[in-house]
Amino acid sequence: MGRIVYVNGEYLPEEEAKISVFDRGFLFADGIYEVSSVIEGKPIDNAAHIARMHRSLGELRMEAPVSDDELLAIQAEVIQRNDLKEGLVYWQVTRGAADRDFNFPEGATPSLVMFTQTKTLLDSSAAKTGISVISQPDIRWLRRDIKTVQLLAAALAKQAAKDAGAGDAWLVEDGFVTEGSSNNAYIVTKQGTIVTRQLSNDILPGITRASVLRLAREAQMRVEERPFTIEEAQDAAEAFYTSASSFVMPVVRIDGVEIGDGAPGPVATRLREIYIEAARAQVGG
Ligand code: PMP
Repeated sequence: MGRIVYVNGEYLPEEEAKISVFDRGFLFADGIYEVSSVIEGKPIDNAAHIARMHRSLGELRMEAPVSDDELLAIQAEVIQRNDLKEGLVYWQVTRGAADRDFNFPEGATPSLVMFTQTKTLLDSSAAKTGISVISQPDIRWLRRDIKTVQLLAAALAKQAAKDAGAGDAWLVEDGFVTEGSSNNAYIVTKQGTIVTRQLSNDILPGITRASVLRLAREAQMRVEERPFTIEEAQDAAEAFYTSASSFVMPVVRIDGVEIGDGAPGPVATRLREIYIEAARAQVGG
């Protein structure tokens, strides 16, 4: 069954939804996006995702196409029309359609597209076994703090991981892990400290990262925000990653080397539980 998607003011069957050939998202990757997870039909950490959307738009000197209240109403409508209980709501804002020219067009209307994807988040089988990752050079641009739709480098890294029989790629720059291809990367040291790279232009400020670090600190876990190498990760007690589409995902193998005993560790498992508890609390479930 096809989905109903939102495109610039209309709810349409996905086969009928169209964007201009001249849309700058298509021609220049001149756009940004957000993804909120959905549990029990409600978006999780949604206010933070909307706040990050505004930051991304501001960095690219783009206007929001709709008010926040309208955005919330569109989210609720696509979720309801697609009867989405568990999964993701994706939305993307581009600078709109204009004759092809590098400079920003005068008076173009930004495009807003939104759709849902069904995904098993809570009872994820990958979270039970953990995921293997490979390292890949981070060939992305220098403003990874902006959530743009230019995802070719991430797609190449993910495809390389798939070709190598791994679940994902961790990106490395100047000898240190920046982040995962679509997630934030963490290790747990043998002393039990959770280590993840500090925020900067080098990585996306993950919304799940912010929630998980807050919950970890509330649970009296030690957190250190600093870069780490693949070698340190391979020698760590645990590794994991976070994102809206995976919550907290244990990593059990990096470049073929088993982490700890090769099974999801207690810290990642506990953090996944606390994050899910907090998410459920948001939807009143
Ligand atoms: N880093 C990158 C490069 C990502 O694409 C994502 C997911 N969009 C994340 C981190 C995680 O961010 P969030 O927790 O907001 O999903």
